[in-house]
Amino acid sequence: MAKRVGILALQGDFTKHVQSVARLNHQPVLIRKPEELKQCDYLILPGGESTTFLHLIEQLDLRQPIIEFSREKPIMGTCAGLITLSKDVAGLPHPSLGLIDLHTVRNAYGRQIDSFVGDVRLSFDERRNIFEGIFIRAPRIKRIGQDVEQIGFHNDDVVLAHNQTILVASFHPELTDDTRIHRYFLDTMGK
Ligand code: GLN
Repeated sequence: MAKRVGILALQGDFTKHVQSVARLNHQPVLIRKPEELKQCDYLILPGGESTTFLHLIEQLDLRQPIIEFSREKPIMGTCAGLITLSKDVAGLPHPSLGLIDLHTVRNAYGRQIDSFVGDVRLSFDERRNIFEGIFIRAPRIKRIGQDVEQIGFHNDDVVLAHNQTILVASFHPELTDDTRIHRYFLDTMGK
């Protein structure tokens, strides 16, 4: 059955997530207001600029509704979405949402290599475990809480992880045609 997947559509590459969700025959729902969340079973926070996301989330009164959503339903965040969902992030003008116990450092792969494509090893796919990771001014996860499961690695870094309701990637699975990470989110998390 098609699931209704909310995609925060304030800024960033949300249309790419719309395509990934549609490719899996689920129904994307653009989210710009708190009441629109009520129609959804899942939520995605896209890549973009985390300071802008947090600013708009405050302005549009989305902070508490997203936190309440996460108590019952799964949320995925990619890149800036990961930063927005992390518990511990330095240098943000607004507090992050704090929904997954990670210490995350923004733009931590260095300016000269602001963007790169690198292999991500997926622990949940035994047949074909390499995923093409597109990293764009990517955040780095520096500390991982005990309730967080690590499911994707780039060299020695954890770049894909989840707790009970929150899944985060420091790269952009929505910028590839490979839907395995979206499928993992929509098939294994939530009801
Ligand atoms: N560097 C951005 C930030 O700090 C994230 C970049 C991205 O989402 N591609 O929010």
